[in-house]
Amino acid sequence: MKIKEVKTYIVSQKLGEQSFCYSQAWYNTRTLMLLEIITEDGVYGFGEAFGNAFVNKAIIDNVYAPKLIGQHIFDSEKIWDELYNTLRDNGQKGSCIQAISAVDNALWDLKGKYTHLPVYQLLGGARRDKILPYATGFYHTKTDNQEALLVEEAHKYLTAGFKAMKMKIGFGIENDIQMVKTVREAIGPDIKLMVDANHAYTAMAAIKIAQAIEKYDITWFEEPVIPEDIGGYKEVKAATSIPIAGGEAEFTRYGFKRFIDERCVDILQPDCSIMGGLSEAQKIFSMAKIANTQCYPHVWGSAIALQTGMHAAFAMPDFPESLNPGEVLFEYDRTPNIFRDEMNLLYQVTLKDGYIEKPEFEGLGFEPDRDLIAKHLVK
Ligand SMILES: [Mg+2]
Repeated sequence: MKIKEVKTYIVSQKLGEQSFCYSQAWYNTRTLMLLEIITEDGVYGFGEAFGNAFVNKAIIDNVYAPKLIGQHIFDSEKIWDELYNTLRDNGQKGSCIQAISAVDNALWDLKGKYTHLPVYQLLGGARRDKILPYATGFYHTKTDNQEALLVEEAHKYLTAGFKAMKMKIGFGIENDIQMVKTVREAIGPDIKLMVDANHAYTAMAAIKIAQAIEKYDITWFEEPVIPEDIGGYKEVKAATSIPIAGGEAEFTRYGFKRFIDERCVDILQPDCSIMGGLSEAQKIFSMAKIANTQCYPHVWGSAIALQTGMHAAFAMPDFPESLNPGEVLFEYDRTPNIFRDEMNLLYQVTLKDGYIEKPEFEGLGFEPDRDLIAKHLVK
């Protein structure tokens, strides 16, 4: 069970006509960094690092990989501490942590394969049999009639059986308010609707939007302000009845402690391919539990990131326990991405009555289509 080899892959899909934007940038490609850890027995595990694929690859290839060779896969807490401390003075947030996430998740995949157990069971056991996926979409595109396209997209998700959807905002106060109205009218009153500004606003602007869209029954308002602006988060939270969510741009137990201690959000959104991996997620869930603050895992990326987040969502505790605990909402990005939809030969997400049922595969439940990786590999 010792590590023999560490491989990194950058894969890229050109989006062309399918390019889309959110409040911060255009997506013209889907470019990802995948990590494979292979043991002396020839068993392999996969992890993914969100973020800049080239920076993440450089960190793993040059700094982390040499430290991993010869280590035992079950020494994952020890490994995490060693890797973190190696670049602690240089990178307590960002790519250094995203790269650790890929390593940690690949180790969990391996631990599952060696024990023939699903990762959620190794994390302490599934707390639920199903989770409620929400369609993440409603990005903006090059079009003269964004509103019509958003309505069309809403109908597509309704037809697919989604009971919850998250739309991108952050395109200007008046535009946002109009688009939220349009989408709410398109989906009717019974579907959950969330909005995500990707920190495009000051607290004052975010409050203006929040108060204007309260009447559209918004399940949460995600990243209203920049992640550094804890005071701004608190102002927005205090000024609206809409729950405030954030955390996808926060890292490690240290970063989340600040969010939790300040009680600046109603919903924490740790991403297992960003903030330090499943091992770190366990610690963040424990801290959130102490503060009785809801967590819902954030997910963005390939089938590996999706599977990793899913195991976290099944294993996560309830906040709090009760006879009728709240459903766990799970992010299911619906923008074009062949690495999410076509790369996993073992398992594909399907909705049953709008829910994702607990998968039974060992490890993360990921079997790579190596031809697909080879075809899209960035050399
Ligand atoms: Mg978001």
